[in-house]
Amino acid sequence: MHTDPATGLVAALDIGGTKIAGALVDGEGRIRVRAQRPTPAREDGETVMAAVEAVLADLAASPLWASAGTVGIGSAGPVDASRGTVSPVNVPGWRAYPLVERVRRATAGRPVTLVGDGVAMTAAEHWLGAARGHANALCLVVSTGVGGGLVLDGRVRPGPTGNAGHIGHVPVDLDGEPCACGGRGCVERIASGPHLARRALDNGWRPGPDGDVSAAAVAASAHAGDPVALASFERAAQALAAGIAATAALVEIDIAVVGGGVAGAGEVLFAPLRRSLGAYATLSFVRNLTVVPAVTGTDAGLLGAAAAAMHAGSGATG
Ligand SMILES: [Zn+2]
Repeated sequence: MHTDPATGLVAALDIGGTKIAGALVDGEGRIRVRAQRPTPAREDGETVMAAVEAVLADLAASPLWASAGTVGIGSAGPVDASRGTVSPVNVPGWRAYPLVERVRRATAGRPVTLVGDGVAMTAAEHWLGAARGHANALCLVVSTGVGGGLVLDGRVRPGPTGNAGHIGHVPVDLDGEPCACGGRGCVERIASGPHLARRALDNGWRPGPDGDVSAAAVAASAHAGDPVALASFERAAQALAAGIAATAALVEIDIAVVGGGVAGAGEVLFAPLRRSLGAYATLSFVRNLTVVPAVTGTDAGLLGAAAAAMHAGSGATG
């Protein structure tokens, strides 16, 4: 059957604290055109918006632009999809910033769909990745922060403001450390890359000659068998497992997909994660829950933003 290669094209934006990526994505999930700018995260809001407009201008220079009828945005959060505004923690110039309206104006009035980055990653994994074919899934991004999103009854469920599934701020330690969100004992406070690395340092882990104290450096030590590094990953895995088990008990997911930089550590995270899940997820209806790595990688944000735009436009299910 003949298919017009430009059919179903959408424009996608992935907005984070370090870069603003854009793409034209076709209905098969292929990225046809790319553009990117660094995020001027310390500048005022209009300067950040100018970088978004520059990315859109690069996309608009493609002959395929005319076929891209809608725009999807995945943004660092918090977002408020009901109002079309974003307030990314790492972009202080944007607070309740009317991003949807500004992007609509910059793209000649195209319809714009906004989701948080955790929901975008979830949409990407459900469309093209490890959650494909699963009607009920939790996807997690474990990185500088911990985010996530839910697939229920075959559809990504962003919730009223686009933040549903934000597992990073589910408390798993009743008397735990205060979290940046104002709560305490959150999954993110224990499992994020910076907290994982800080805990290793507090317990006596020391970086190599390069002085790298990132979670990736702790992961390298863990792979080499360093017990303090391994213990820090074990603790992070425990917190993630508790959050995943709670989610499974509430809404009966059958798979948890874990992506983000910290998940790149591989088995030093996934082995204790599966072990802890066995301890926390014990009821008959959650016992078969599996945990797998995400597969859409660094394009998850763009592909998820594209998926969100496509589904908003057609009303189609997941
Ligand atoms: Zn929190």
